[in-house]
Amino acid sequence: MIFLTFETDWEKLGLKVGLEIHQQLDTHKLFCNCPSLLRDDNPDFVVKRKLKAVVGETGNVDIAAIHEELKDKTFFYEGYDDTTCLVELDEEPPHPINPEALEVAIQVSKLLKMKIFDRIYIMRKTVIDGSNPTGFQRTAFFSRDGILKTSFGDVKITSLMVEEEASRKMKEENNNIYWRVDRLGIPLLEISTEPQMRTPDQVREVAEKIGLLIRMTGKVKRGKGTIRQDVNISIVGGNRVEIKGFQELQDITNLVKLEAERQYNLIRLHEKIKLRNPKIDRTFFDLKKILAKTESKLVKTALESNKEIIGIKMPSFAGLLKDKIQGERYFAKEFVDYLKVLTGISGFIHSDELPGYGITEKEISQIKVLLNCSIYDAFAFVTGEKKEVEKALNVLLDRCEQFIKEAVPSEVRFPNDDLTTKFLRPMPGAERMYPETDLLPVDLSKNFIDSIKIPETPEEKTQRFLNIGLSQDLVDQIIRSRDLNLFEKMVSMFKKVSPTNIANILLSSADEIKKRYNIDSSSLKDKHYIDAFNLLEEGKVAKEALIEILAYLAREPNSTALEAAKSLNLTKISEKELEEIIDKIIKENETLTAEKQFQILMGFVMRKVRGRIDGEIVAETLKKKLKV
Ligand SMILES: [Zn+2]
Repeated sequence: MIFLTFETDWEKLGLKVGLEIHQQLDTHKLFCNCPSLLRDDNPDFVVKRKLKAVVGETGNVDIAAIHEELKDKTFFYEGYDDTTCLVELDEEPPHPINPEALEVAIQVSKLLKMKIFDRIYIMRKTVIDGSNPTGFQRTAFFSRDGILKTSFGDVKITSLMVEEEASRKMKEENNNIYWRVDRLGIPLLEISTEPQMRTPDQVREVAEKIGLLIRMTGKVKRGKGTIRQDVNISIVGGNRVEIKGFQELQDITNLVKLEAERQYNLIRLHEKIKLRNPKIDRTFFDLKKILAKTESKLVKTALESNKEIIGIKMPSFAGLLKDKIQGERYFAKEFVDYLKVLTGISGFIHSDELPGYGITEKEISQIKVLLNCSIYDAFAFVTGEKKEVEKALNVLLDRCEQFIKEAVPSEVRFPNDDLTTKFLRPMPGAERMYPETDLLPVDLSKNFIDSIKIPETPEEKTQRFLNIGLSQDLVDQIIRSRDLNLFEKMVSMFKKVSPTNIANILLSSADEIKKRYNIDSSSLKDKHYIDAFNLLEEGKVAKEALIEILAYLAREPNSTALEAAKSLNLTKISEKELEEIIDKIIKENETLTAEKQFQILMGFVMRKVRGRIDGEIVAETLKKKLKV
């Protein structure tokens, strides 16, 4: 559910958004010959690894802290004997870069009018979450300085990178993380724009246009997770925040609105806090004495198991932690999420939610006296082992310090299902890149670059589809459809079938099959559609029969379309056979009055011949016989 109440003048708010679009390519992998195939069957092997200490100076304490934590983790890499190899496991050096991926990169660069480098250097970018057994991601800066035409003017394209995809996280239990390497190494294009979008709708337009443009190569993967957007957002008085890995294009405007709302409210709260003149005090206060006789179940349990109960002052935060800053999310959530990522501890108690949890007014005032809280100061406490509690409190104080220093901490955030976001990690400084030593730079000759044809632009394709008879509405749908490639293939294969007919069936078959027969059509592959349309091309069935044949094939994917047509009694009848049927039905219904005769008889005839001969021929023949 989206709780979007934020209405604003975007220009006044100074919204600025830049995008990074990541698109998986439908080729084999980037540095080996394995297919880019995701599998859900049981893996053939699992390899256990610990992360190697590969991070040098990053100049960033928080990343180092995460890294420190990851040292305790064990990674399990799952793979398949026939579709993954030793390259994914870092047991064999990478093969030379996949030339097909380079061709697609050239095509997209040309579509975006970018300058392609004549020498491509493959670099390693440190990754610390275990998603790559090497501890880095291979990436190559491929082209720069492009232009995307939009309804609000030209948007500058900063760069196009060719990268390898990370492994898929399958599960996480305690300190064990399971990664599946079937996804690792799938080629990715990463296209970055300048932060030139000024409204949420402009963001959607650019994301959509770039996605469509890449698809014009016909070499991209489709479906969930195959295209992802990193959205960089700031407003006046805020800071750049990157929302990582967003997948739902239709929701991107609301994602931007909600992040703008968060930044707007953080600025408002920051101004309030600043007026209160906050001073960070890193003293820890033992609260065991005050809470020794408490009725609070939570505290009692901690005391019984000899845990610490330690409090800190949150200077100038009183009364603000339960302010809603993003949809229904409270300001306090900014602390909870941060604490969870950096320490694994998921909770703390703060004074804005008290009295509560069995803690009384009296206990609250005693704590406030002990901590020397003014009316503006909040306090927080955490229970647990001393070392962990102190670490958590320091992290909470760090977060307080951030919000006192700047309204919106510059950081990487992760999109929640409800389109709010949560802290993921600090913004990396200069990204830690170093050269790939196992691979030579790739020289791209001018001849090679020139030899790669520019694909049709979406505008050219639209015009061509209009020319072969599709309506504008149908063009708009098929050009964005997952079946665009199949449509093009079938139009060139079938000369007697109208392209409109092909587009209509491709776009509607799944819904129609579900509606009419309650059958899930996910087992239908390209070959089933081609097979069914082949019968139509050869005049063996009528177009009305196609949905029923496809429904049959969805249930029996190993059958042929001809077998389906025969077993459903859908093979075509001749016009002579039709005439005989019509004559018989007219004779049986002689008593019908003239005015409704055609309509009723048409219904009777269609019931007998539906799907076996074109409906228009039926109507024509019947009219002729009735002389209407
Ligand atoms: Zn491989």
